[in-house]
Amino acid sequence: MVSSTSCYACGRQYGPEQKRCSCGEPVWFDVDVSRFEPPRNRSRGVWSYADVLPVEPRDDLGVASGGTPLFRASGLDEFAGCRVFLKDETQNPTGSFKDRGSAVAVGATIERGKPWIGTVSHGNMAMSTAAHAAAADLSCAVFVPDDVSDERLAAIDQYDPEIVRISGDYGRLYRETIAVDRSEIEFVNSDTPLRIEGQKTIAYEIVEDFDGDGPDAIVLPVSSGGQASAIWKALRELREAGVVETLPRLYLAQAAACDPIAAAYRAGADEVRAIDPGKTIAYSIANADPPSGTRALAAVRETGGAVVSVPDDEIQTAQAAFARCAGSCVEPASATALAGLARLSQRGAISVDEKIVVVATGSGFKELGSTAVDDGRMTDVSAVQLTIDAIVGADG
Ligand SMILES: *Cc1c(COP(=O)(O)O)cnc(C)c1O
Ligand SMILES: [Zn+2]
Repeated sequence: MVSSTSCYACGRQYGPEQKRCSCGEPVWFDVDVSRFEPPRNRSRGVWSYADVLPVEPRDDLGVASGGTPLFRASGLDEFAGCRVFLKDETQNPTGSFKDRGSAVAVGATIERGKPWIGTVSHGNMAMSTAAHAAAADLSCAVFVPDDVSDERLAAIDQYDPEIVRISGDYGRLYRETIAVDRSEIEFVNSDTPLRIEGQKTIAYEIVEDFDGDGPDAIVLPVSSGGQASAIWKALRELREAGVVETLPRLYLAQAAACDPIAAAYRAGADEVRAIDPGKTIAYSIANADPPSGTRALAAVRETGGAVVSVPDDEIQTAQAAFARCAGSCVEPASATALAGLARLSQRGAISVDEKIVVVATGSGFKELGSTAVDDGRMTDVSAVQLTIDAIVGADG
């Protein structure tokens, strides 16, 4: 059973409820993977990986979270400059990979006997945590920035959590909430150990799907650094379990207007510092003071990847490419990964024959407001045949 946590940076060990190390870095669970066997099927969602998770599986949540498809999106090869595979996290119950972490976090909070779960979020995690809490009848409090869109707020509100809109510094909000020491509530923010465990299952699935033959790299958008840390942790565990020998390179993408991790990478620094952010359409990844930024940077360095930043117009172009070349509807935050990948190929970091997984982190259906709309043709029902003729070019 998993009963301790440790710091990836300095190795100090702690109990299972610790969140940060005395050195300042986040901790994660120590998991024994020596007897890990890839599951025969994934019909139990995240619980298919129960052997390597710090919580007992449940029937009332988590079964629909995870177990998402990985598919070859050859329509994107030209745009991306390599062989593209999409890991489609938009298929999770609330449309993002956050559902994997939420399932594990809600399950563990109930096991710990706490009546409340809390989180700090730009929207997706609030929605996801609230949905999983609702499914398991746990009370939920979500703290969202005050500029969250009405569409997002409505999507969160349907699960009926206690919503708190916060003005002021988002990085400070993160720190204040994980420092809360009350037995009634468990805060499960972006990179806390329980969330990392759930979210690591994405990389278990990817590696398993390639069956020992790839991928060469995984590209994802990064904000807090939680998901990058989770993927890194999974890859290390899979190496320890003898499932992979060499780790795929991890490439992280940020929006140029808010790119603290990319800035540290460019500067050759080992530590990520808070920046003064600008505005970006990639709202879900606009974290100027990422709590796992330094850990994400370590993941990139150890795997031989890189961190890139891309301007909003390239993010928009990539979002359109997702839809037009792969039939996939993603939010701008997710499109940032594809925009970053195109840049990496252009500068020769990735070659045309490489197999690259792009994580489609979140669905675009929650917020189509910013997308340009083609109003279509107007026609009367009596002219339908003629219209079809015009569209398909028939001359009969
Ligand atoms: C949360 C989120 C991210 C960033 O994940 P982090 O773990 O905070 O780095 C990327 N894309 C989407 C759609 C998200 O919801
Ligand atoms: Zn430490």
